[in-house]
Amino acid sequence: MRLSTPRLRILHFDWRSSATRDFIALFGGATLASLLAHLYGLGPRLAQLGQRYVDSVLDDIIFIVFVAFLLSIGLTIFSYRRYRELAGGTEARTIKGDLRDLARHDPLTGLPNGRLFDEKLDLCVGLATDTHQVAVLMLGIDGLKRIKDTHGRAAVDKAICEFATRLADILRKDGLLARIGGDEFGIVLPNISSHEDPANLARRIVASAADSFAIETGSAELSLGIGIAIAPIDGVTPHELVRRAERALYRAQGDGRSRVRFFEPDMDMRVERRINIERELRSAIASDIIALYYQPVVSLVSNRIVGFEALARWENRTLGHIPPDVFIPIAEETGLINALGDQLFRRACFDATAWPEAFSLAFNISPVQLRDSALGERIISILEQTGFSPRRLEIEITESAFVERNGAATTVIDDLRQAGVRIALDDFGTGYATLSQLLSFRLDKIKIDRSFVSHLDESTDSRVIVRAILGLAKEFGLTTTAEGIEDERQLAYLASNGCTEGQGYLFSGPVPAAGIPVLLDREACDGPVPDNGARRLDA
Ligand code: C2E
Ligand code: CA
Ligand code: CA
Repeated sequence: MRLSTPRLRILHFDWRSSATRDFIALFGGATLASLLAHLYGLGPRLAQLGQRYVDSVLDDIIFIVFVAFLLSIGLTIFSYRRYRELAGGTEARTIKGDLRDLARHDPLTGLPNGRLFDEKLDLCVGLATDTHQVAVLMLGIDGLKRIKDTHGRAAVDKAICEFATRLADILRKDGLLARIGGDEFGIVLPNISSHEDPANLARRIVASAADSFAIETGSAELSLGIGIAIAPIDGVTPHELVRRAERALYRAQGDGRSRVRFFEPDMDMRVERRINIERELRSAIASDIIALYYQPVVSLVSNRIVGFEALARWENRTLGHIPPDVFIPIAEETGLINALGDQLFRRACFDATAWPEAFSLAFNISPVQLRDSALGERIISILEQTGFSPRRLEIEITESAFVERNGAATTVIDDLRQAGVRIALDDFGTGYATLSQLLSFRLDKIKIDRSFVSHLDESTDSRVIVRAILGLAKEFGLTTTAEGIEDERQLAYLASNGCTEGQGYLFSGPVPAAGIPVLLDREACDGPVPDNGARRLDA
């Protein structure tokens, strides 16, 4: 029975309520007691004591009045207790309702959260047919960390709320928008007839995100990736659809700023491979089996080897050869890079202590490693433990580490320079660093990226850029290493324009540590690399 007014609800006997049980016990006990008293003539006896003229009728009336009196006391106590029970119950129910609501909504934006998203998606996917398809769009925001670092947490929250409002304005009435995670939103678009519907929506979302977001301290830019999967084509369960939309999102974000990708079956295979690599990488690091090869760095003045760059090499039993361009980014994303970097650096120092004193060791450090301000101290402590001189060490850092320009990178670079370690800017010309950003860090060397060297022959632009870099380096007193020298013409051009060092297959590819004495013996026997560089040291 549904009771509408509070008064009726108070008088409603709910058998589970303690007020009802107390009432029955109190009233029943009291009535039983008075009935027994009545049967044993307690009433008349009492009356005789108090009043002489009481007859049996009066005796019955006294009994009824007495029972009614007990009933009213019982009812009063019951009503009061029931009222307290109901009031408490309403409050508890309101809190329960609020909690249920909170558990299904994102507290910042007020949008449905992942849980409600899953529930709705479950309903929609169950109804999907070939003519009434359902699209799942996963939206990933990039750039929140940058906003947090420059403007603070409140600015991030503001930008997210503003973004959520823009999304809500664009979305069709029957679509569901949810905030799935810190930087991830999800959309369910039911009843679509073709890919055009979600594609249009995605385009509008990307366009709306392109306008900057007003925050307290000015404005902020966000970029966005969108991955789309369609039911029933790409999956028939919510889990499958979300996973596939996320895979498409992953690819979209990998493609660059503000991209939209539909799920394609080969994405599954790629992700599968990535998962396998990650798993194998963990175990390779745990068992310390990733190897180091060393590529000679040759002076273009003396044509002699002056040092070696350490390059990671990984052969896996089941996955085969995995190049560093593949596993280093995975190590960066998974946070394994610190353990891997320390492990490789220790080995490099150990190997390099066997080389003649004059040779330097160049070691690559990823921008992700530079986010840890303790990195400099760790490098110095490994140098001490292995007895390798900091003066023989050159740390190679790519431009992106300078662009990020976090406090940690500055601390690490300062620590290292103070210890006597040289800093080289790797892959120069491929990043987005401005010249002033680069020069604000004190550098010792610039490495000219392979892409310029390989185009020296056919591209005037490359020749102009290389000459400009060499001139600039000379002005600032920096040494230069040209990467990827593969033929004599490249070598001749670089040497004649003042490049101080070179690396490349023309001299030697990377060799294992055991191959270095052989290389050095050959150089000692045959003399310096000829000016025309026609001899490969590792041939
Ligand atoms: P990088 O630092 O620019 O290294 C030079 C890359 O060019 C190496 O590729 C090397 O094998 C290749 N190379 C050298 N000479 C030539 C040439 O004449 N022609 C051509 N086509 N290529 C040449 P590798 O070893 O595959 O390394 C790729 C990248 O992986 C490296 O680029 C570096 O950024 C990263 N990497 C390698 N080892 C490590 C490491 O131990 N730690 C970190 N953080 N990154 C590493
Ligand atoms: Ca390098
Ligand atoms: Ca390089």
